[in-house]
Amino acid sequence: RKPRVAVVFGGRSSEHAVSCVTAGSVLSAIDRSKYEVIPIGITQDGRWVLEEDRPERLAITDGRLPSVEPSNQLVALSNDPTVRELIVQEPGAVPKTLGEVDVVFPLLHGPYGEDGTIQGLLELAGVPYVGSGVLASALCMDKEYMKRVFASHGLPVVPWVAVRPREWERDADAVLRRVQEELEPPVFVKPSRLGSSIGISKVSSWEELRAAIEAAREHDPKVLVEQGITPVREIECGVLEAEDGTPEASVPAEIRVRGDHQFYDFQAKYLDDSTDLDVPADLDEATTREVRRLAVAAFEAMSCEGLARVDFFLAPDGTLLVNEINTMPGFTPYSMYPLMWQASGVDYPTLVDRLIQAALRRRNSLL
Ligand code: ATP
Ligand code: MG
Ligand code: MG
Ligand code: MG
Repeated sequence: RKPRVAVVFGGRSSEHAVSCVTAGSVLSAIDRSKYEVIPIGITQDGRWVLEEDRPERLAITDGRLPSVEPSNQLVALSNDPTVRELIVQEPGAVPKTLGEVDVVFPLLHGPYGEDGTIQGLLELAGVPYVGSGVLASALCMDKEYMKRVFASHGLPVVPWVAVRPREWERDADAVLRRVQEELEPPVFVKPSRLGSSIGISKVSSWEELRAAIEAAREHDPKVLVEQGITPVREIECGVLEAEDGTPEASVPAEIRVRGDHQFYDFQAKYLDDSTDLDVPADLDEATTREVRRLAVAAFEAMSCEGLARVDFFLAPDGTLLVNEINTMPGFTPYSMYPLMWQASGVDYPTLVDRLIQAALRRRNSLL
């Protein structure tokens, strides 16, 4: 029979709606003559439900963002009762067991999706899945450990100070002094484990530092303060596994934020029309080559699998710095990752197919 693909979307993070929109695009693009598709939504409070296979429901209509709603169609991914208990959270509900799923496409962003937790659940359930495994997902979601691993592989990163919850609660003034000794304004203050620029602020003078750290702490008890690069050029590069498992880099692209945005913030990413995407980026040949080399090196350093989008800063003196890896980047046909592959000769349906095939191959290689 055809391989059965479970497309999982929504989820508990603040990127729920973005994930639903992505799932609508992927559901429309999967080749139904080749795969049987099972859409599974995760509600904002973490319940798994069997969704109707209606991609058009998941589009943005009249400015309304799609979401996954609870229903009694709760599902489990495995017949293993321990795993089922982990997934089915509503007492008394009769779970609809999926039986054998051949591969899961976890189209989830942020915590409880992109951070190794769902990957761990799928490992327990014995179901192969698209993208990075537990360790790489967790490392790439934590901006502190991601930088430590980059640095230990000789990859260039901006200087940073991590603010751990116990340090901050014990002696916030000492933390503020340490940041001011080690870095210079402007700095960027970020929740350590999040995405979509949520909770990030640019601090141009030290009086704003304490409030910025407190604001980031609303999203994550661990906060990162990074040396700001100004003016900065923001370059991104897609990495995709070839059929033999070798990671390959796409053409790089550049994001240019217009208007009164201080940086590529949430508003600029999703809500207004203030960004220009240059695909490919207007870079000289040597810089293009270096971006692509570093993208693959970053992917390898973190032991990523399947796909990743590597984000760079290009400083005014020409220095390239690796900012971060997103292991499940935005994935609508208008998102940067698919656009970069489109420009590299891999169209959207082919991209989706290659990712599913890579996941199936990995399962086969384990057997
Ligand atoms: P994503 O949606 O890509 O997952 P994120 O929430 O993980 O984003 P970052 O990519 O680390 O966050 O930062 C968001 C944006 O903030 C960057 O794209 C850039 O515009 C700005 N920024 C972050 N750190 C710096 C820095 N050190 N110097 C200059 N600009 C920065
Ligand atoms: Mg990120
Ligand atoms: Mg992200
Ligand atoms: Mg980013």
